[in-house]
Amino acid sequence: MDFNDSPEEAAYREKARAWLAENAAAHRAKFGELKPNTPEHMAAAKDWQATKAAAGYACITWPAAIGGGGGTPIQSVIFGQEEGKAGLGYGYFTIGLGMCVPTVMAFADGDTKKRFVSPAVKGEEIWCQLFSEPAGGSDVAALRTRAVKDGDEWVINGQKVWTTGAHYCDYGILLTRTDPDVPKHKGLTMFWIDMRDAAVECRPIHQMSGGREFNEVYFTDLRVKDSQRLGEVGQGWQVALVTLMNERLAVGGSAGPNYREIMKLARELSGATGPALKDQAFREKLADWYVQSEGLKFTRFRTMTALSRGQTPGPESSIGKIISANQLQDLANTAVEMEDQYGILSDPETAPAEAAFQQSLMWAPGLRIAGGTDEILKNIIAERVLGLPGDVRVDKDVPFKDMPTGR
Ligand SMILES: Cc1cc2nc3c(=O)[nH]c(=O)nc-3n(C[C@H](O)[C@H](O)[C@H](O)COP(=O)(O)OP(=O)(O)OC[C@H]3O[C@@H](n4cnc5c(N)ncnc54)[C@H](O)[C@@H]3O)c2cc1C
Repeated sequence: MDFNDSPEEAAYREKARAWLAENAAAHRAKFGELKPNTPEHMAAAKDWQATKAAAGYACITWPAAIGGGGGTPIQSVIFGQEEGKAGLGYGYFTIGLGMCVPTVMAFADGDTKKRFVSPAVKGEEIWCQLFSEPAGGSDVAALRTRAVKDGDEWVINGQKVWTTGAHYCDYGILLTRTDPDVPKHKGLTMFWIDMRDAAVECRPIHQMSGGREFNEVYFTDLRVKDSQRLGEVGQGWQVALVTLMNERLAVGGSAGPNYREIMKLARELSGATGPALKDQAFREKLADWYVQSEGLKFTRFRTMTALSRGQTPGPESSIGKIISANQLQDLANTAVEMEDQYGILSDPETAPAEAAFQQSLMWAPGLRIAGGTDEILKNIIAERVLGLPGDVRVDKDVPFKDMPTGR
């Protein structure tokens, strides 16, 4: 493990810092009081994305010829760290650029890539991932949305759920079932689709935080050209694995208050028995969070070292998500309890710590599910890191139509 930037990495970090110092303030000011998930906020985020793309700081690892920065994975991590410190990381493009467009790049024909990659890098068009369904989440290969060939077109009917950003996205990658007569993983096919097509209907899912990030998406006789197919017919699972491999890297750790911030809060709050920071039970928890955070920090250094050496981080990155998402939820629970009656306030103007812990309390459960639930990630660690026997998969070789949910 190497804790320091190499001379080249230090030079890149300096260059990125200097560029951010010159450009970030003006863009941060544009966001001002804008509320996330409003058209104005989106416009400001697109503007920042375009500015980064023009300077080679968007999609840093992608070739410059397609709009990327022509850089290395470690440079991408370094820029992400510095951009985060500058307070300018926005989530609208994460799924598109982190998962969908890389899948398009891997499987689409030359004309399709030429048409779509560069506008996505510049933030002009946004993509969503249409995989999960009511009957296919962790077990996404159990999905039921059907695509039936009709001449040179496919006709698609079915429903997706939890589609982040579907209501503002321009395009999506859609996993469908094209052959129910073969086992579930073998009868899938992937397409890219136009989210503005009249046969695509987005219905919002309202969250307890008051936000509206997800949707149910319905397809009623949606017609797509065969040229919109990504990968071979029946090879959708292999295509989806490329997307999901990128998902684990893109979802990453948790954004939210950490043990330092809850320690600050505990210094400021007093309960019936005195300052919260003196509370023995709280101090025990604090020690646990500190130990977890240090463990995560060094695991991250391992990932950074692997990237720095040109290697690909392995499934151990799943550990980071399990620990950080659970810690965020535990920390938020404790803080809101400590805040007592103030804990029910969610307005940043009146709630302690500008309601950061209330927000985390509502967001952390989602983080424990997105990009693989705790249980699924534990299975991955058990099977691929520890080499334990695999999960029981009784329906692996059964034709999809013969599964209880297959009709
Ligand atoms: C914030 C967020 C954003 C999302 N964005 C998108 C998106 O943009 N596009 C998209 O397609 N989907 C998206 N999803 C959906 C997400 O991929 C699924 O919610 C996730 O895969 C879990 O599926 P499920 O909700 O159907 O739960 P289920 O798979 O039904 O799981 C229910 C419970 O059973 C457990 N379980 C399931 N299988 C096993 C097993 N083999 N062993 C042990 N326990 C098991 C799970 O851990 C969970 O506790 C998003 C979800 C969230 C929370």
